[in-house]
Amino acid sequence: MESFFISIGEEKFRAEQLFNFIHKNRGAKIQNITVFSKVLRDKLENMAAINETKIYKRFDSKLDNTKKYLFLLEDNNIIEGVIMEYTHGLTVCISTQVGCRMGCSFCASTKEGLVRNLNPAEMANQIYNIEEDLNCKINNIVLMGSGEPLDNYDNVIKFLKIIHHEKGKNISYRNITLSTCGIVPKIYALADEGIPINLSISLHSPFNHIRERIMPIGKKYLVEEIIKACKYYYNKTNRRITMEYTVIKGINDREKDLEELIKILKDLNCYINLIPLNPIKEYDKERPSISNIEKFQQELKKSGINATIRREMGSDVNASCGQLRRRYTNGKDSKTIQ
Ligand code: SAH
Repeated sequence: MESFFISIGEEKFRAEQLFNFIHKNRGAKIQNITVFSKVLRDKLENMAAINETKIYKRFDSKLDNTKKYLFLLEDNNIIEGVIMEYTHGLTVCISTQVGCRMGCSFCASTKEGLVRNLNPAEMANQIYNIEEDLNCKINNIVLMGSGEPLDNYDNVIKFLKIIHHEKGKNISYRNITLSTCGIVPKIYALADEGIPINLSISLHSPFNHIRERIMPIGKKYLVEEIIKACKYYYNKTNRRITMEYTVIKGINDREKDLEELIKILKDLNCYINLIPLNPIKEYDKERPSISNIEKFQQELKKSGINATIRREMGSDVNASCGQLRRRYTNGKDSKTIQ
């Protein structure tokens, strides 16, 4: 922004004023930037734009305080985000892409492929729109909505640096979690960025031959390569890794899955988050009974691996990955939505 202002013959400090204004006001229209003269605002209006993402619909869970949002982007695409209330504060789950090209068989976000990447402003606006709407302060951000964040690497890094910036939202990297299906070279790159966020890996099976059946990315990067990258990430950032494990009856909840899981994770500083499968119509598998998931959890704990079961939030508002957006796009290009 500084070089932008210099390039248009303005003082460098205008950049900090603008950055500060946008983040303090959770977005802005150029004409509302009152720290600038009318002359400068008019000049800017002719050459620049501030991205505007609007709330399209909000769904309030009756079961807990979860609220699910559909956002309308400037090009009429629709994305979704969620706000959840935990004892440690408010967490927002944001999308990083419109759609997704990873093709995981159980995930609704990917069923129509990737439409496009989100830019950093569209990621930040999901947070700011929710804060404005509820007049609240968000404490934690998780990149676990639609899309694969490491498939939109440069924009995601830019967003993380902006949202962390002390003149911006000033959110600590410790309060940010990125979830990935395991794009190994990008895990190494992220480890070397100097931004120690929490890393979550969608593991879902310790066996390559099973993992690649439910997650096509498993054909490209093997479980052992992911574990090695996680160790590197942990050594570089000192942040503990989370392994996400969507439990699917008969696919990854067997005795041998448990044994192999314990074997491959034993010398990685991580914990496992067991996610009961959220059934979608395109995937005809079920979740195991809660008592079986609890048994799985106990066995992991006995072997020294910390395991939790993800509490379901907002299940009455289709709060799981991509389901809500799909209800609105209904398999059609979202641009057809009025
Ligand atoms: N692309 C990223 C983030 C998106 S989804 C990733 O793969 O990690 C966040 C988590 O929800 C992932 O672990 C994903 O595998 C899981 N998930 C997606 N659809 C699900 C479903 N129907 N039931 C349970 N978990 C699901």
